[in-house]
Amino acid sequence: MRKPIIAANWKMNKGPAETEDFLKGLISKIGKATDKCDVVIAPPFVSLPTATKLLASHDVSVAAQNVSQYDAGAYTGEINVMMLKELYVPYVIIGHSERRAIFGETDEVLNAKMHKVRETNLKAIFCIGETLEEREAGQLDEVLRRQLTEGLKGLSEKDVLETVLAYEPVWAIGTGVTASPEQAQEAHAKVRVILAESFGGEVADKVRIQYGGSVKPDNAAELLAQPDIDGALVGGASMEVGSFLQIIENGS
Ligand code: PGA
Repeated sequence: MRKPIIAANWKMNKGPAETEDFLKGLISKIGKATDKCDVVIAPPFVSLPTATKLLASHDVSVAAQNVSQYDAGAYTGEINVMMLKELYVPYVIIGHSERRAIFGETDEVLNAKMHKVRETNLKAIFCIGETLEEREAGQLDEVLRRQLTEGLKGLSEKDVLETVLAYEPVWAIGTGVTASPEQAQEAHAKVRVILAESFGGEVADKVRIQYGGSVKPDNAAELLAQPDIDGALVGGASMEVGSFLQIIENGS
């Protein structure tokens, strides 16, 4: 049985003060929801200390939204894996489509980041997904295969087991257009087939795969009821305590 994992990706929103407000609200209302579902919050870097402090004695994990592929040194503006370790941040999102499209992160760069993350025993939420043009050109299979094969190249079975995957069709992110449960399920099943080829059937069966792209309280239940969907990576609807909790409730 794969325990669902629902993560909030706040992107470039919520500094320390707003993070504190949100998390105090979340803690007061979350109750026993984390018995059935792992919950992760990914605030911007500057809010990570606030988040890890407030959540230290609660069953809610913290994720960074990105990390450098480099070690310490002359890399202005970057954050390395050891800095995340120092803050007791267990998860890091790697390869979000905004990192790929806006910041030019290639499969090769993302693979280097995955290796850094695993060398320090952090857990990645590794994102993949096709653009609308790719889907319409019938390239879904090819894109998922390339992103998975290149992105996870050289990792061990254990590394992959410690990784959460997030299938996020780019055309569904922040657009209000959600993939239908059938479309999402089809892609998730493909991901397991591709994983099985590289890492074996057991790994493919155990890895948790989140769906992301306009997940909201009213579509979470149907999406997460699909056999190969094990959680959600939520952007817009994770920004308010009420809607995020509703997604957790409906999805688990
Ligand atoms: P969205 O974002 O829920 O606002 O579509 C999801 C994501 O980018 O992870």
